[in-house]
Amino acid sequence: MEIYVHIPFCEKKCNYCDFLSGPADPMVRQMYVNALCAEIAQRSKDIGKGEKITTVYFGGGTPSVLENVQIGVIMAALREHFNISKDAEITIEVNPKSARDKLQFLNGLGFNRLSIGMQSVHRSELELLGRIHSFEEFDECFIDARDAGFTNISVDVMTAIPGQTEQMLSATLDKVLSYSPEHISAYSLTIERGTPFYEQFGDIEGPVVGEENERKLYWLTVDKLKAKGYKHYEISNFAKPGFESRHNTGYWNRVHYLGLGLGASSCLPAPEGDERSRNTTSLEAYLGNPLTKEESNVLTRQEMIEETMYLGLRMMDGVDTDAFERQFGVTVRSLYADVIDDLAAQGLVYEGGSSLSLTDLGIDYGNHVFAQFLS
Ligand code: SF4
Repeated sequence: MEIYVHIPFCEKKCNYCDFLSGPADPMVRQMYVNALCAEIAQRSKDIGKGEKITTVYFGGGTPSVLENVQIGVIMAALREHFNISKDAEITIEVNPKSARDKLQFLNGLGFNRLSIGMQSVHRSELELLGRIHSFEEFDECFIDARDAGFTNISVDVMTAIPGQTEQMLSATLDKVLSYSPEHISAYSLTIERGTPFYEQFGDIEGPVVGEENERKLYWLTVDKLKAKGYKHYEISNFAKPGFESRHNTGYWNRVHYLGLGLGASSCLPAPEGDERSRNTTSLEAYLGNPLTKEESNVLTRQEMIEETMYLGLRMMDGVDTDAFERQFGVTVRSLYADVIDDLAAQGLVYEGGSSLSLTDLGIDYGNHVFAQFLS
């Protein structure tokens, strides 16, 4: 089982972000840490110490806006109440601005993977995105992280930023590659309702830079990172061999996970099937009672099959059809022969050995492909 811990605080909201996050004063942050620890203690009772936790992921928001002592208290609560495996992958997302003075402490606390939100090396792009840090701060943060002992670092890059040219993206990728991080995530910008970008660019379908340009920038990223030895293992994720995110790979493989904190989702085993639930997204409600749920339902067998298909197809290794048969007692082909033949004829999926995966063309039409597996 995996654990996700949501820290919903950031120093300032970025212009494109619709995540459950935002600024909060120190008192609210402390109240949140208290509520989170109470949730950890309570929810651990449902799981028990028998269940081995293989990954822990602190995401947000920006977990590094918390004080060292607060992160330490949360980690101590997790270790007290859960059986965290000795070789667990323990990740924390950090912002280059707020992380520098915490890196040594985080490493000492047992975090062994760092995810640094960099996005771009260009001041103009960072300003447009509303990021609070400069490239120079990322540079200092990365060097300090290595000095602090982090040997597994992921860097986030953003593509399809309004006005981004191939030259600009190339410069960003070259710079990132010069640090030789173990992992790189490269997500295309999308305009989300309720963000300052939505006001600025309007209700547009698809990328601001245009569909064709977005694809060009995407494949430029793939080609550049692959040429430097990074494995393209998921649509938007790249890793040196052996450094794929275990936490996210578990999620795409439908490993059970417990989400802790505001708005966090869980997928846990239940007698009738997997139970999917989401914590309340109201900070007030969460601080009042951190066990407040926003929704909860048991997935039908059909829903689990569909999830297995579209999450599995996100990975370049594709859906493991043998594992599928072991889990569901039927073959992928027996359920989806027509769909697969049709997609294969269009050159969108590839069936080989015991896997079904997207082709390069299939990556470009990913959403269309995924939709074919939904009833
Ligand atoms: S730092 Fe991350 S979570 Fe926070 S506002 Fe920016 S994009 Fe959103």
